[in-house]
Amino acid sequence: MSRFDESLAASQQLIDAALEREIAGAGAALRADGSAECIDCGCTISPARRRVYPSARRCLECQVFAEKEAYLR
Ligand SMILES: [Zn+2]
Repeated sequence: MSRFDESLAASQQLIDAALEREIAGAGAALRADGSAECIDCGCTISPARRRVYPSARRCLECQVFAEKEAYLR
């Protein structure tokens, strides 16, 4: 094995390790303490939103409203 091949294999291992950490992190995020129902209006938070933001506690409408309120305060 040449030095080039060795360093290539080493960097591939680093990439694999980083990917594995990322995948494990994403799994943890999916189990994050979120809510299936909006804490403000009680409607079901869309699965698409929960996929992007697993710890979401409000539906998109309520989240936008809550953030607007925070800016206006
Ligand atoms: Zn809501």
